[in-house]
This record gives sequence, structure tokens and C-alpha cells, in this order.
Amino acid sequence: MDDLRARDGVAMDYMATFGAAIERLHDEGRYRVFIDILRNKGNYPNARCFGQRALSRPVTVWCSNDYLAMGQHPAVIAAMEEALHDVGAGSGGTRNIGGNTHYHVALEAELADLHGKESALLFTSGYVSNEATLATLGKLLPGCIIFSDELNHASMIAGIRNAGCERRIFRHNDMAHLEELLAAADPAAPKLIAFESVYSMEGDVAPIAAICDLADRFGALTYLDEVHAVGMYGERGGGISERDGVADRLTIIEGTLAKAIGVMGGYIAADRLITDVIRSYAPGFIFTTSLSPVLAAGALASVRHLKGSSIERECQQQAAADLKAKFAAADLPVMSSTTHIVPLLIGDAITAKAVSDALLQDYGLYVQPINFPTVPRGTERLRFTPGPTHDAAMIDTLVAAVSEVLGRAPLRLAA
Ligand code: PMP
Repeated sequence: MDDLRARDGVAMDYMATFGAAIERLHDEGRYRVFIDILRNKGNYPNARCFGQRALSRPVTVWCSNDYLAMGQHPAVIAAMEEALHDVGAGSGGTRNIGGNTHYHVALEAELADLHGKESALLFTSGYVSNEATLATLGKLLPGCIIFSDELNHASMIAGIRNAGCERRIFRHNDMAHLEELLAAADPAAPKLIAFESVYSMEGDVAPIAAICDLADRFGALTYLDEVHAVGMYGERGGGISERDGVADRLTIIEGTLAKAIGVMGGYIAADRLITDVIRSYAPGFIFTTSLSPVLAAGALASVRHLKGSSIERECQQQAAADLKAKFAAADLPVMSSTTHIVPLLIGDAITAKAVSDALLQDYGLYVQPINFPTVPRGTERLRFTPGPTHDAAMIDTLVAAVSEVLGRAPLRLAA
């Protein structure tokens, strides 16, 4: 370690600089602590807590993005077990060199069908699919201007930055502002509008049809991140674009296999020429090992299941509505959300962490605090994601515990 400290002729003590960066996070209450937890298969949302915060009682998970508990679903687990025994653990390479398997091909066909597009392309995560696709599109279209919603996810922002083209940020879901920015741009410049359907920290939804109208008027391509909506909305789980009947108006739909689908991986769905050009030019696709076929097999089973089954979506929506209503009835600061996400405004990082600590230690309720930079400073919150197996009694327990904890003063941070 010592040789990482100040070196001859260098004016900086490397380790002291890293230490100070971590210290700043502690001071602001933003230092992240990972909870050492294991879910119990077949018993979701119950889990066990280990490590420093070990608890003898079971913990109820309230912040998982496995929104529909598909990560625990027997059909998904059976498909993964079968694939593991059939073909082994890893894919063995990039898609170009040894890492293309029948599971990848079948999953891409299933995802294309889900969104009513000609084709789909898999990536190792939703983050990578956004970064790789947006960066590559921007580079392939000389003079392109990318119009981006101000609340877009970090992975879209990274892709837009790496595209190296001009960008214009429009106020969140503000169509008048987007129209103004489009009208002010060079009419001859290629344009792309990048936005999300469900905004995961607010729980609100983009006006997709209105954005498509503007895109048509100004000759722009559209890029929609449906990460928090795939599996959750639409008759077959095709997202908000399916629910609103506008999937065919979008140039590219992007999604993850890691949230409602319950496994891991990301993808885009679009015309064949678009997936072909990304497949052929995007470093984030070309130069990395493809998903394990075991993951692809699990995701395939999950997507197929959710195409034919609405019960998970219905139970989840019911639980979310119930939790919002009960938070509101208890006079707790639940933020307005028109989706499955239930955010509770706390307003500062230190309190958010203290509430989260108290809920875990004193009540066995697990919800991670959400701080800057994930949300703006002053809007720190707890973000609850009830699933289809959170029942009314669990919701009552949670609401009572949050009321008690928020009623206490002063709140203390756990060591
Ligand atoms: N887009 C959005 C809107 C997200 O919230 C996330 C993850 N939280 C991602 C993309 C990245 O997806 P993944 O977790 O599959 O990398």
C-alpha cells in the first residue's frame, strides 16, 4: 500500500486523495453500504441478512427491481437449470467469435416479436445497450443533434456524451420545450429524441405519442428506454409503447432483462437495418463476451411466460395501489406516481439513510435510500417496489413502521 502514497516528484498523495473522496460521501450521508442478503427461493419477498447487519429474523425486501418476482419463478429456474445441464455455464466468447448460441438467437426473435419489430439485439446489460447504441448512432450520423429528457438515466447520458455530437436537454416530459428546441435546430440536421417510458425514480410516464408527433414533424428518430416498463405494461408485457399502441411509431425500443424479466441482460428492438448497423459498429456489442446461455434461457422463459400471463402484473399493480393509498391515509409524504413505483420523499441524505437503517434493524424491512446523483439533492427518498407477493398484512406492517420511524426524533445513523 505504501508505494501508492506520494511518490518522488509527484505533488499528490494518491491514497489520501482517495480517502478524502470517501470521507466526503460519509460527511454527506451518501456513503453506500451494501446489505449482505440472500433471498429464499419460493418465499419472495422474504430474505435473510448476514454480515455486520446480521439479523436473526427474516427480512422483507421492499426495494427489489425484480418487480414481478420472475427471478424466483419455477418456469425461469427450470429453464436455467436445463440450459446449465445441457450446454454448460458460459457462452465462450463474443457474439462474433464463438459466443453466439441458439439461446441468444431465440431470445432475440422473442424480443423482436414482443415489441412488434423486425429484429432485436442483445447486450450484457441495459446500461451497455443504452451506452453502445446511442454512442454509435450519434457517430454514424454526421452533424446529428440528440434531444434528451433531463431525467434520462445515466447510461443514456453516457451514450449521448460518447456520441460526441451536439445535445439539447429538454425539461422533463415538457412537450412545449422539446418543440421549441426542435424548431430552433437546423432543419437539415439529423435528429434523435432519447427518452424513457416509465421514469424509475418519479414513477411518471412519458407522453410517447406526443413525442412521436414531434419527431414526425421535425424528421427525428426516436429512442425509447422501456427498462422499467417491459414485462409490466401492455397485454403481453411489451411496455408502455404496447399499452399505448405506439410501438410501431418508435425507431428503437430499448429494454432490460434484469428487472421485471427477473434475470440479466439488455437489448434493443428495431428495424433489421438498425440492429445490423449497431451489431456491426458498436464496440460495447462487438468487444465483449456475450451473455451466458443460461441467462438467455432464463430470460427467454420469462418473456414467454409474461406474454401469456397477466396475473403477476395485476397483483403487482394492486399491491402498489394499496401501498400508495395507505401511505397517503397515514399522512406520509408519498410522491405522486402513476405507475408501480412508490417513492416516499425524505429530502436529505442523512435522514434517508437513518430511516432506512431503522427500518432494517428494528423492523426487518429492507429499503435502500436513494441519494444524489441518482436523484437531485433535496429530493432524497425511499423508493418502494411492492411485488405480486407483498400481501396486505405486509403493507400494513410497513406503513406502521415507516410512521413510527418518521415520528421519532432525532434519527440516528447505524455504525
Ligand atoms: N435504463 C434505466 C432507466 C435504468 O433505470 C437502468 C438501471 N437501473 C438501466 C437503463 C440499466 O439497466 P441494467 O440494470 O440492465 O444495466
